[in-house]
Amino acid sequence: MTIYWERCDFCGRYEPVKQCTLYPDLMVCIHCCLSCPKRKICPKPVWFIEFKIKTITKPGKIAKEADKTKVFQELLSKLGS
Ligand SMILES: [Zn+2]
Repeated sequence: MTIYWERCDFCGRYEPVKQCTLYPDLMVCIHCCLSCPKRKICPKPVWFIEFKIKTITKPGKIAKEADKTKVFQELLSKLGS
């Protein structure tokens, strides 16, 4: 997805903007998108998606969670024997 340095159609500031999902003829900056009252009904808030990908994709954390499960299962098997 392309980020343009343009004027936000909502606040009028010169910020990196993206095409709004709900109103495709409008360009929205990250601040307006994140504080938009219509985010609840917006199927895909355009700025939310990137933010989510950046925060969730942490392979290190997932590996740790898997280790925890493994340790827990080992403990359970020891208790059972
Ligand atoms: Zn804005």
